[in-house]
Amino acid sequence: MPKLKVTVDPDLCIAAAACMGSAPKFFRMDDDNRAVVVGADGSEAFVQIREVTDAEKAALLEAAGSCPTTAIVVEEIS
Ligand code: SF4
Repeated sequence: MPKLKVTVDPDLCIAAAACMGSAPKFFRMDDDNRAVVVGADGSEAFVQIREVTDAEKAALLEAAGSCPTTAIVVEEIS
């Protein structure tokens, strides 16, 4: 399974929520109305390392592509 580093830049996030439409399992809004990445353990952070299926990887790449401010970066690390 691909291992991905998923990052949200909180300074760029404008709470458009497109990411949650594309990959609802991986993004939530925090109390300050910025997207955070959901970890495998349910934790929330601006950077998470996740092992994902190919379908989940596609959803994350779609989320990154749909973010109007390019606040999301998805990198394959193995
Ligand atoms: S799509 Fe981009 S701007 Fe919108 S909530 Fe997600 S990270 Fe923030």
